[in-house]
Amino acid sequence: MRLILLGPPGAGKGTQATRLVEKHGIVQLSTGDMLRAAVANATPIGLQAKAVMEAGGLVSDEIVIGIIKDRIAEADAAKGFILDGFPRTVAQAEALEKLLADQNLKLDAVIELEVDQAALVGRIVKRAEDAKAAGQPVRKDDDPEVFKTRLAAYNRDTAAVTPFYEGRGQLSRIDGMKPITEVAAAIDKVLGS
Ligand code: AMP
Repeated sequence: MRLILLGPPGAGKGTQATRLVEKHGIVQLSTGDMLRAAVANATPIGLQAKAVMEAGGLVSDEIVIGIIKDRIAEADAAKGFILDGFPRTVAQAEALEKLLADQNLKLDAVIELEVDQAALVGRIVKRAEDAKAAGQPVRKDDDPEVFKTRLAAYNRDTAAVTPFYEGRGQLSRIDGMKPITEVAAAIDKVLGS
């Protein structure tokens, strides 16, 4: 199974992806996680991406397309994957389409989690508080001001990705403001599982 979860930062993509990974035995490919690992390991890509990420901007298409291309080619992705946080621009969506077509692979679903953006800032504040309470590090980009920049980047660049898939008849929209279990059930319905 190969699917894409779309939606603004804080929409719950990560939560649903984790569940789908367990349920279907596929891998979650989160460009955000991969980039954070690159930053933590101070790799050449990490060094390039660090400042952009901390400011809430988008890392270049070239870098993220390269990361995804390499990751999809790894053995554990052969059974299927969920893309979380990618594609974030139409250029990325086009590159992915070509990448998959070259390997005769198809997407099973593209699911958009629709959310009330005003409510998202509240969710992010809570995510930062919960991480702090659990003694975990708080992501620098979960600071509410940086989060607003990430939301602006989403509206500027990523909102155009949804019509890209809608135009191809591949998009399913789900209300991401519902409780996690209801969102999960709606996703399973789309996937027929
Ligand atoms: P995320 O965890 O998906 O919210 O990603 C965290 C940050 O990583 C984003 O704010 C961007 O700076 C960067 N990033 C993650 N995925 C992408 C992508 N597909 N294109 C560009 N930048 C990305």
